[in-house]
Amino acid sequence: MLSSKQIIEKTKKIGAANYKPKDVVIEHASGVMVYNPEGEQFFDMLSAYSAHNFGHLHPEIVAAAKEQRDKVTLTSRAFHNAVLGDFYERLSQLTGKEMVLPMNTGAEAVETALKTARRWGNFVKGVPDGQQEIIACGNNFHGRTISVISMSTDETARKGFGPFTPGIKIVKFGDARALEDAITENTVAFIAEPIQGEAGVILPPEGYLKKVREICTKHNVLYIDDEVQTGFARTGRMFAVEYEAVVPDIFVLGKALGGGIMPVSAIAADREILSVFEPGSHGSTFGGNPLGCAVALKAMDIVIRDNYPKLALEKGKYFMDKLRTIRNPKIIDIRGKGLLIGVEFCCPAEGYVNELIRGGVLAKETHERTIRFAPPIIITYEQIDKAFEIIKSVLEA
Ligand SMILES: *Cc1c(COP(=O)(O)O)cnc(C)c1O
Repeated sequence: MLSSKQIIEKTKKIGAANYKPKDVVIEHASGVMVYNPEGEQFFDMLSAYSAHNFGHLHPEIVAAAKEQRDKVTLTSRAFHNAVLGDFYERLSQLTGKEMVLPMNTGAEAVETALKTARRWGNFVKGVPDGQQEIIACGNNFHGRTISVISMSTDETARKGFGPFTPGIKIVKFGDARALEDAITENTVAFIAEPIQGEAGVILPPEGYLKKVREICTKHNVLYIDDEVQTGFARTGRMFAVEYEAVVPDIFVLGKALGGGIMPVSAIAADREILSVFEPGSHGSTFGGNPLGCAVALKAMDIVIRDNYPKLALEKGKYFMDKLRTIRNPKIIDIRGKGLLIGVEFCCPAEGYVNELIRGGVLAKETHERTIRFAPPIIITYEQIDKAFEIIKSVLEA
């Protein structure tokens, strides 16, 4: 087998440089632990940006994948498959929404939510087609397609990619007043993450989500809740909006929905909203494929059966309490909910991250100064203790 160094060189040679991965090769993995070709082990504290809530290769999800793999994996939506209906039923129960539209990646699900909102705006609200406006938040992360980066305020994500999709307004995240001021008669939707993940685990002020809900209802504007990263128990609730007992109009889901095995995303909304689609108006060759449905179905079963929200809440508190004992004057904030935790420094965090990796803890800085810790929800208390010892020694050195 090639060494880590050889693999990295080979990978860098031909691949576009749109990522700057850390110098670690994950050759195999199990649960919270990942291993490089040299057999060294690491704690995975990033979980593929929260796609690995169940840990790597969760045995029951792998078994569901293998079982479905031996029956049929892809049918396209030209025909029915035997699992899609069950997937719909389970996701509908979990979200409390009447209808579901399946896609593959988070960005596609966000696109789908934007298209839904524009159509609803035209068909139901009566906004002239072409005039629909959507409001998003500064420092959001919703994905990488052209329409999605049209909502971005990150110059690196936008530079050289114009022209952008029109009809988008940006307001400050956490500022309900700014949202209400930005709404016009043509506004069809407001989209936000309940906690901004990529921006550095940014929590809005308490009461914000509730006010957003009230404002959207008052002005007949759809509230699109992007829970691609926060959903499926990551923050200690099934969905992070539950912290304020808020019900959005559209859930956008992805990442952990695929059980760490397949890209599976979806939006969920009530019939009044999602019935704007007729045959031919939207779709995806792979969306709703039986293999994806089978792993997602098993993942949703496990999240409920094993009460993942409670696990994430309790382990998150345990982990965060430990992190708060670390003495380093360069740490200016430790925040988060459940097992989505940000440690913010007053200086770039890259050096610390590289040392963590050298010590056996995989993490990555986000927005330069914040290290996000988001281990799989199946992490044991013993594993938290062991990883914490490494984190403490690195951050206090
Ligand atoms: C990761 C993410 C997306 C995009 O998902 P992809 O599968 O990478 O396209 C969208 N929204 C949020 C909040 C995310 O964290």
